[in-house]
Amino acid sequence: LLSCRGLRKEFGGHVVLDRLDFDVAEHEVVALIGASGSGKSTLLRCVNLLEEIDDGTIHLDGEHITDPRVNPDKVRQRIGIVFQAYNLFPHMTVLENIVLAPTRVHKVPRATAVATAREWLARVGLADKAGEYPDRLSGGQQQRVAIVRALVNSPRLLLLDEVTSALDPELVGEVLSMIRDLKSEGVTMVLATHEMGFARQVADRVCFLDGGRVLEQGPPETVFAEPAEPRTRQFLSRII
Ligand code: ATP
Ligand code: MG
Repeated sequence: LLSCRGLRKEFGGHVVLDRLDFDVAEHEVVALIGASGSGKSTLLRCVNLLEEIDDGTIHLDGEHITDPRVNPDKVRQRIGIVFQAYNLFPHMTVLENIVLAPTRVHKVPRATAVATAREWLARVGLADKAGEYPDRLSGGQQQRVAIVRALVNSPRLLLLDEVTSALDPELVGEVLSMIRDLKSEGVTMVLATHEMGFARQVADRVCFLDGGRVLEQGPPETVFAEPAEPRTRQFLSRII
Protein backbone atom coordinates (compact mmCIF):
# COMPACT_ATOMS: atom_id res chain seq x y z
CA LEU A 1 0.00 0.00 0.00
CA LEU A 2 2.80 2.40 0.95
CA SER A 3 6.31 2.17 -0.36
CA CYS A 4 9.11 4.61 0.56
CA ARG A 5 12.41 4.26 -1.22
CA GLY A 6 15.68 5.99 -0.48
CA LEU A 7 14.10 8.80 1.53
CA ARG A 8 16.45 11.55 2.47
CA LYS A 9 15.52 14.51 4.61
CA GLU A 10 17.82 17.03 6.15
CA PHE A 11 17.29 20.14 8.20
CA GLY A 12 20.05 22.69 7.65
CA GLY A 13 22.71 20.07 6.95
CA HIS A 14 21.55 17.72 9.70
CA VAL A 15 20.54 14.46 8.03
CA VAL A 16 17.43 13.03 9.71
CA LEU A 17 16.34 10.41 7.15
CA ASP A 18 19.20 8.79 5.28
CA ARG A 19 18.22 6.69 2.24
CA LEU A 20 15.43 5.18 4.28
CA ASP A 21 13.25 2.37 2.88
CA PHE A 22 9.90 1.71 4.47
CA ASP A 23 6.87 -0.29 3.34
CA VAL A 24 3.39 -0.83 4.71
CA ALA A 25 0.97 -3.50 3.51
CA GLU A 26 -2.79 -3.12 3.46
CA HIS A 27 -4.40 -3.77 6.90
CA GLU A 28 -1.01 -3.76 8.54
CA VAL A 29 -0.32 -1.89 11.79
CA VAL A 30 3.28 -0.74 12.05
CA ALA A 31 4.86 0.80 15.14
CA LEU A 32 7.80 3.16 14.67
CA ILE A 33 10.09 3.18 17.67
CA GLY A 34 13.43 4.83 18.27
CA ALA A 35 15.16 7.42 20.39
CA SER A 36 13.91 10.98 20.59
CA GLY A 37 15.16 12.74 17.46
CA SER A 38 15.52 9.51 15.47
CA GLY A 39 13.12 10.84 12.83
CA LYS A 40 9.81 9.10 13.58
CA SER A 41 7.74 12.28 13.29
CA THR A 42 9.74 13.46 10.31
CA LEU A 43 9.03 10.20 8.48
CA LEU A 44 5.28 10.50 9.16
CA ARG A 45 5.29 14.14 8.07
CA CYS A 46 7.13 13.26 4.86
CA VAL A 47 4.64 10.49 4.08
CA ASN A 48 1.79 12.96 4.53
CA LEU A 49 3.64 15.50 2.34
CA LEU A 50 3.86 17.98 5.22
CA GLU A 51 7.63 17.96 4.69
CA GLU A 52 9.31 17.97 1.34
CA ILE A 53 11.83 15.16 0.94
CA ASP A 54 15.32 15.91 -0.37
CA ASP A 55 15.62 12.63 -2.23
CA GLY A 56 13.79 9.35 -2.79
CA THR A 57 10.25 8.44 -3.68
CA ILE A 58 6.99 7.60 -1.95
CA HIS A 59 4.31 5.52 -3.63
CA LEU A 60 0.77 5.10 -2.35
CA ASP A 61 -1.27 2.38 -4.04
CA GLY A 62 1.31 2.40 -6.79
CA GLU A 63 0.96 6.13 -7.40
CA HIS A 64 4.08 8.27 -7.14
CA ILE A 65 2.88 10.85 -4.60
CA THR A 66 6.19 12.72 -4.27
CA ASP A 67 5.96 13.66 -7.94
CA PRO A 68 5.84 17.50 -7.89
CA ARG A 69 2.78 17.46 -10.15
CA VAL A 70 0.71 15.68 -7.51
CA ASN A 71 -1.74 17.80 -5.51
CA PRO A 72 -0.86 17.36 -1.80
CA ASP A 73 -4.46 17.98 -0.71
CA LYS A 74 -5.60 15.00 -2.76
CA VAL A 75 -2.95 12.83 -1.13
CA ARG A 76 -3.84 14.01 2.37
CA GLN A 77 -7.42 12.96 1.73
CA ARG A 78 -6.04 9.42 1.42
CA ILE A 79 -3.54 9.63 4.28
CA GLY A 80 -4.87 10.83 7.63
CA ILE A 81 -2.55 12.12 10.35
CA VAL A 82 -3.12 12.79 14.04
CA PHE A 83 -0.58 14.45 16.29
CA GLN A 84 0.21 14.35 19.95
CA ALA A 85 -1.92 17.31 20.97
CA TYR A 86 -3.64 20.53 19.95
CA ASN A 87 -5.48 18.77 17.19
CA LEU A 88 -8.90 20.40 17.38
CA PHE A 89 -9.95 23.94 16.57
CA PRO A 90 -11.14 25.32 19.93
CA HIS A 91 -13.68 27.74 18.47
CA MET A 92 -15.58 25.01 16.62
CA THR A 93 -17.86 22.28 17.91
CA VAL A 94 -16.83 18.66 17.62
CA LEU A 95 -19.09 18.25 14.59
CA GLU A 96 -17.75 21.37 12.85
CA ASN A 97 -14.19 20.23 13.49
CA ILE A 98 -14.92 16.94 11.78
CA VAL A 99 -16.81 18.23 8.74
CA LEU A 100 -14.47 21.16 8.06
CA ALA A 101 -11.98 19.41 5.78
CA PRO A 102 -14.48 17.22 3.91
CA THR A 103 -16.75 20.17 3.07
CA ARG A 104 -14.14 22.89 2.51
CA VAL A 105 -11.23 21.02 1.00
CA HIS A 106 -12.74 17.92 -0.50
CA LYS A 107 -16.07 19.45 -1.56
CA VAL A 108 -18.22 16.78 0.04
CA PRO A 109 -21.86 17.97 0.36
CA ARG A 110 -22.49 19.17 3.90
CA ALA A 111 -25.34 16.75 4.59
CA THR A 112 -23.18 13.80 3.57
CA ALA A 113 -20.25 15.00 5.67
CA VAL A 114 -22.48 15.52 8.71
CA ALA A 115 -24.03 12.07 8.34
CA THR A 116 -20.61 10.43 8.07
CA ALA A 117 -19.34 12.40 11.06
CA ARG A 118 -22.31 11.37 13.21
CA GLU A 119 -21.93 7.76 12.18
CA TRP A 120 -18.28 7.73 13.24
CA LEU A 121 -18.96 9.56 16.50
CA ALA A 122 -21.57 6.94 17.35
CA ARG A 123 -19.15 4.14 16.55
CA VAL A 124 -16.60 5.48 19.01
CA GLY A 125 -19.15 6.28 21.71
CA LEU A 126 -19.11 10.06 21.32
CA ALA A 127 -22.48 10.62 19.66
CA ASP A 128 -23.64 12.94 22.45
CA LYS A 129 -20.58 15.20 22.08
CA ALA A 130 -21.25 16.43 18.53
CA GLY A 131 -22.40 19.88 19.67
CA GLU A 132 -19.77 20.40 22.37
CA TYR A 133 -16.70 22.58 22.13
CA PRO A 134 -13.37 20.77 22.56
CA ASP A 135 -12.58 22.33 25.95
CA ARG A 136 -15.65 20.61 27.39
CA LEU A 137 -14.20 17.21 26.52
CA SER A 138 -11.55 15.22 28.33
CA GLY A 139 -8.15 14.90 26.66
CA GLY A 140 -8.93 11.33 25.71
CA GLN A 141 -12.25 12.31 24.15
CA GLN A 142 -10.58 15.15 22.24
CA GLN A 143 -7.99 12.79 20.88
CA ARG A 144 -10.68 10.31 19.82
CA VAL A 145 -12.48 13.14 18.01
CA ALA A 146 -9.19 14.05 16.30
CA ILE A 147 -8.86 10.46 15.12
CA VAL A 148 -12.46 10.48 13.87
CA ARG A 149 -11.71 13.69 11.99
CA ALA A 150 -8.88 11.88 10.23
CA LEU A 151 -11.09 8.88 9.49
CA VAL A 152 -14.11 10.56 7.88
CA ASN A 153 -12.26 10.88 4.58
CA SER A 154 -11.92 7.06 4.57
CA PRO A 155 -8.15 7.33 4.28
CA ARG A 156 -6.17 4.43 2.91
CA LEU A 157 -3.65 4.95 5.66
CA LEU A 158 -3.78 6.52 9.12
CA LEU A 159 -0.64 8.01 10.67
CA LEU A 160 -0.61 8.48 14.44
CA ASP A 161 2.20 10.45 16.03
CA GLU A 162 2.44 9.86 19.79
CA VAL A 163 -1.31 10.26 20.10
CA THR A 164 -1.33 9.27 23.75
CA SER A 165 1.77 10.97 25.08
CA ALA A 166 0.08 14.25 26.05
CA LEU A 167 -2.68 12.44 27.94
CA ASP A 168 -3.04 11.74 31.64
CA PRO A 169 -2.37 8.06 32.25
CA GLU A 170 -6.02 7.28 33.06
CA LEU A 171 -7.09 8.65 29.65
CA VAL A 172 -4.55 6.72 27.61
CA GLY A 173 -6.56 3.51 27.78
CA GLU A 174 -9.61 4.80 25.91
CA VAL A 175 -7.49 6.01 22.99
CA LEU A 176 -5.52 2.77 22.85
CA SER A 177 -8.71 0.77 22.89
CA MET A 178 -10.05 2.84 19.99
CA ILE A 179 -6.87 2.13 18.04
CA ARG A 180 -7.28 -1.56 18.79
CA ASP A 181 -10.87 -1.42 17.46
CA LEU A 182 -9.69 0.29 14.28
CA LYS A 183 -7.11 -2.41 13.81
CA SER A 184 -9.78 -5.09 14.07
CA GLU A 185 -11.77 -3.21 11.41
CA GLY A 186 -8.76 -3.48 9.13
CA VAL A 187 -7.60 0.15 9.19
CA THR A 188 -3.98 0.38 8.03
CA MET A 189 -1.94 2.40 10.53
CA VAL A 190 1.57 3.60 11.19
CA LEU A 191 2.08 4.79 14.72
CA ALA A 192 5.09 6.48 16.23
CA THR A 193 5.17 5.62 19.90
CA HIS A 194 7.24 5.57 23.05
CA GLU A 195 4.83 3.08 24.61
CA MET A 196 6.50 -0.25 24.02
CA GLY A 197 3.72 -2.13 25.80
CA PHE A 198 1.22 -0.79 23.33
CA ALA A 199 3.48 -1.37 20.33
CA ARG A 200 3.85 -4.95 21.47
CA GLN A 201 0.08 -5.47 21.80
CA VAL A 202 -1.24 -3.76 18.70
CA ALA A 203 1.51 -3.75 16.07
CA ASP A 204 1.96 -6.44 13.45
CA ARG A 205 5.45 -5.13 12.89
CA VAL A 206 7.82 -2.92 14.82
CA CYS A 207 10.41 -0.76 13.05
CA PHE A 208 13.35 0.61 14.98
CA LEU A 209 14.66 3.87 13.52
CA ASP A 210 18.29 4.68 14.09
CA GLY A 211 20.80 6.77 12.16
CA GLY A 212 18.15 7.89 9.70
CA ARG A 213 17.21 4.37 8.67
CA VAL A 214 15.12 1.42 9.70
CA LEU A 215 17.86 -0.46 11.50
CA GLU A 216 15.76 -3.43 12.52
CA GLN A 217 12.18 -4.57 12.02
CA GLY A 218 10.01 -7.56 12.61
CA PRO A 219 7.11 -8.92 14.64
CA PRO A 220 7.01 -7.37 18.12
CA GLU A 221 7.76 -10.73 19.77
CA THR A 222 11.04 -10.91 17.89
CA VAL A 223 12.17 -7.29 18.08
CA PHE A 224 11.39 -6.93 21.78
CA ALA A 225 12.45 -10.37 22.96
CA GLU A 226 15.47 -11.05 20.80
CA PRO A 227 16.65 -7.88 19.04
CA ALA A 228 19.37 -8.68 16.53
CA GLU A 229 21.11 -5.30 16.55
CA PRO A 230 23.17 -4.06 19.48
CA ARG A 231 21.68 -0.56 19.01
CA THR A 232 18.16 -1.94 19.33
CA ARG A 233 19.12 -3.87 22.44
CA GLN A 234 20.67 -0.76 23.93
CA PHE A 235 17.59 1.35 23.16
CA LEU A 236 15.20 -1.21 24.61
CA SER A 237 17.25 -1.81 27.73
CA ARG A 238 17.11 1.90 28.48
CA ILE A 239 13.37 2.27 28.24
CA ILE A 240 11.75 -1.01 29.24
P1 ATP B 1 10.50 12.23 19.39
O1 ATP B 1 10.56 10.82 19.88
O2 ATP B 1 11.10 13.18 20.37
O3 ATP B 1 9.15 12.63 18.93
P2 ATP B 1 11.26 11.87 16.63
O4 ATP B 1 11.85 10.52 16.42
O5 ATP B 1 9.85 12.08 16.26
O6 ATP B 1 11.51 12.30 18.13
P3 ATP B 1 11.78 14.04 14.81
O7 ATP B 1 10.80 14.97 15.43
O8 ATP B 1 11.42 13.42 13.54
O9 ATP B 1 12.19 12.90 15.84
O10 ATP B 1 13.12 14.85 14.68
C1 ATP B 1 14.27 14.32 14.07
C2 ATP B 1 15.35 15.38 14.02
O11 ATP B 1 14.98 16.38 13.07
C3 ATP B 1 15.61 16.08 15.33
O12 ATP B 1 16.99 16.27 15.44
C4 ATP B 1 14.91 17.40 15.16
O13 ATP B 1 15.55 18.38 15.91
C5 ATP B 1 15.02 17.65 13.67
N1 ATP B 1 13.91 18.43 13.14
C6 ATP B 1 12.62 17.99 13.05
N2 ATP B 1 11.84 18.93 12.49
C7 ATP B 1 12.63 19.99 12.23
C8 ATP B 1 12.41 21.27 11.65
N3 ATP B 1 11.20 21.67 11.20
N4 ATP B 1 13.48 22.11 11.55
C9 ATP B 1 14.70 21.73 11.97
N5 ATP B 1 14.97 20.53 12.52
C10 ATP B 1 13.96 19.67 12.66
MG1 MG C 1 8.19 12.69 17.28
